[in-house]
Amino acid sequence: GSLLSAEGLCKAYGSTMALDGASFSIHPGEVVAVMGPSGSGKSTLLHCLAGIVPPDSGTILYQGRELSAMNDAQRSALRRSEFGFVFQFGQLVPELTCVENVALPLRLNGARRKEAERTALTWMERLEVDDLAKKRPGEVSGGQGQRVAVARSLVTGPRVVFADEPTGALDSLNGERVMELLTDAARTTNAAVVLVTHEARVAAYSDREIVVRDGKSRDMERAV
Ligand code: ADP
Ligand code: ADP
Repeated sequence: GSLLSAEGLCKAYGSTMALDGASFSIHPGEVVAVMGPSGSGKSTLLHCLAGIVPPDSGTILYQGRELSAMNDAQRSALRRSEFGFVFQFGQLVPELTCVENVALPLRLNGARRKEAERTALTWMERLEVDDLAKKRPGEVSGGQGQRVAVARSLVTGPRVVFADEPTGALDSLNGERVMELLTDAARTTNAAVVLVTHEARVAAYSDREIVVRDGKSRDMERAV
């Protein structure tokens, strides 16, 4: 069955229809690229799916539960326990070390420091940034910082990772490395990835593309 699905999503900002009837479903372990030109509604779609922004109409089901039927506390608990997030930049807390950043979601879920940091380190090893554990985000490169952010997005064992232009600030070599490590890690843990990108080279790491145009979505199987 599907893990996360959307049916007829609409969202307007004033007279701008950011989403105009988007529908699709995402299965466990699938890496789905949300493609489309700038301003087509990709970020709005991601924010709706993650329960951050409520759609004006339409339904979103996560494991058969309607997001709009949950209260804010339930949606926020869902985000903390079932979802992971990676953004383009500026997501690491500068005052914390890299391992503290990766451990943060576990600490917010009530884990003790030692245990949280031990788990964080195993994810940093997988993302090949464990040697940066004691450094602060300001002391690492862009590519390293994004791999730390990916480790943090996976540390709670999420069922869905939402990634909004995760390689947008990187050169192509570092971008490809981040995508390789993110999709490998997601496939081993059977987490779905919802990847917003406008770059075909980044979307090439997905199993399937959802193309958004003027707020409408079109589902395309990847031609291989
Ligand atoms: P994309 O991610 O594809 O660039 P967005 O989802 O960010 O597209 O935006 C879709 C449309 O909605 C754009 O026209 C954008 O200007 C508008 N929009 C998005 N968020 C807001 C907001 N918070 N307030 C007003 N307009 C917004
Ligand atoms: P990567 O390929 O891992 O992104 P780079 O080739 O960009 O790394 O950088 C090589 C080394 O230079 C890194 O190990 C890092 O410690 C250091 N470095 C790069 N960019 C920065 C930065 N903005 N601030 C501090 N150190 C940096």
